Amino acid sequence: MSRSTDTATLRVTLLGTGTSTGVPVIGCSCRVCRSSDPRDRRTRCACYIEANGLGILIDTGPDFRQQALREGIRRLDAVLYTHHHFDHVAGIDDLRPFFFENSRPIPCYAPPNTARVLYRMFSYIFADGTYPGVPRLHLHAVEGPFEITSRYGDAARLRVEPIEVLHGQLPMYGYRIGHFAYLTDASQLPESSYERLQDLDVLVLDALRERPHPTHFSIDEAIQVARRIGARQTYFIHMTHDVLHAEVDARLPEGINLAYDGLQFTCRLTTS
Ligand SMILES: [Zn+2]
Ligand SMILES: [Zn+2]
Repeated sequence: MSRSTDTATLRVTLLGTGTSTGVPVIGCSCRVCRSSDPRDRRTRCACYIEANGLGILIDTGPDFRQQALREGIRRLDAVLYTHHHFDHVAGIDDLRPFFFENSRPIPCYAPPNTARVLYRMFSYIFADGTYPGVPRLHLHAVEGPFEITSRYGDAARLRVEPIEVLHGQLPMYGYRIGHFAYLTDASQLPESSYERLQDLDVLVLDALRERPHPTHFSIDEAIQVARRIGARQTYFIHMTHDVLHAEVDARLPEGINLAYDGLQFTCRLTTS
């Protein structure tokens, strides 16, 4: 009997898919904020990845606690930060329960500019670290591909590749793991990043709303970028309350859809 090639897969859960205010917006009674479609309720963007037995988060926004409870997240080996805006980092202190049974520090990876800001914003975690009960986080400023190893004593490892994107004028990172890439908060991609985004099974991409915005792709801009990258499937995230899921999703081209909170999918981790 010939042994079939074992194609390892990674599993992605989109924890949140909304813009910085979340949807519904506090005090708003527009049709999207009042929508009864659960896909129109969007918590702040974050993503959980399971691959090679490891559990990895991208960003810890202000809704992280509720998202982790909702999805039953139990394992965490590393956090990848895309940039330092509040809607992507404010839940960092809620990483504490991951130390209740496992005191090993959690490595956090970030672009150098974001690492500097995180260090300042959360100095009680990163600078002194002596107060009992603070999360034990090791912050790494990364400028190229790196490897994550297990916090749980097994031999699991995983290669992660930062992908540079521009968020208005702010350089920040998306991340590629295997045939999956996650690009939030982007308004432009350098040429070198397009080269790193070939042969994707799934691309997750920022698409704020129909109208243009200085620091996020609009839906039409995101469609252009998604077509150029050519992933087998693209999901849009970071939508505002201008976007009614059923209406906008219905007009998107084949292979491109709006994401929603809790959406799960799998991708190839390796090619062979
Ligand atoms: Zn941002
Ligand atoms: Zn954002």
